[in-house]
Amino acid sequence: MQKLNKIYEGKAKILYTTENPDLLIQYFKDDATAFNAQKKGVIDQKGIINNKIATKVFEFLKTRGIVTHFEQFLNDREMLIKKVEIVPIEVIIRNRAAGSLCRILGLPEGMTLKCPVLEFCYKKDELGDPLINESHILALGLATEQEIKTITQMTLTINGLLKEFFAKINIELIDFKIELGRYKGSIILADEISPDTCRLWEIGTGNKLDKDRFRRDMGQIEEAYQEVLRRVSQ
Ligand code: 5GP
Repeated sequence: MQKLNKIYEGKAKILYTTENPDLLIQYFKDDATAFNAQKKGVIDQKGIINNKIATKVFEFLKTRGIVTHFEQFLNDREMLIKKVEIVPIEVIIRNRAAGSLCRILGLPEGMTLKCPVLEFCYKKDELGDPLINESHILALGLATEQEIKTITQMTLTINGLLKEFFAKINIELIDFKIELGRYKGSIILADEISPDTCRLWEIGTGNKLDKDRFRRDMGQIEEAYQEVLRRVSQ
């Protein structure tokens, strides 16, 4: 598939058009950002590792009936994806307290939650992706009531599937962020699922295998990402 024009460059990925108007090439960069891009760096090989992990995750979800934008793994840093209209909402699911939930509610990291917490954030870098609710989404016209229902149901289903997927390789899915897109009248899973977008703790040791190692300068970042890739490739 021929790479044509660059149409978008984000913090971690670049999108290119192809000769097929329905398909794009998603290129994974090594750049890493945190805290609303106040912290910037490079994680060696991250683009390659995340492309491979995201491929494995999308392939797994497909076998369980989840429609995603993933079409095909192309090479180390590129995958072919469907061209979607991204819903400007980041959807977060939390199975344990961590990150901003601890900060906002004063909870200890790792606290068990009685049920998964679902959050919506407005995808707006200049505002730091603020937390919003269903009523904001409707008032701003970011998605319809039916789309919110679909997104909620899909995200909860994906959480159940991913918890099982990672538990099989001795990793606990603490939380994750997904993005969804509109494609030919349906809502489908877009963006990526990787250690950049999930909190992944090794079962037994609690060892962090995700971007928190970068956010908190914990070291061994690439090794942690490689370890996730090794396990999902088993
Ligand atoms: P928190 O709100 O605790 O910072 O993040 C919750 C979860 O969503 C974490 O797994 C985090 O990696 C993911 N997440 C939230 N916002 C973003 C974002 O803008 N970019 C990425 N890559 N992940 C995010």
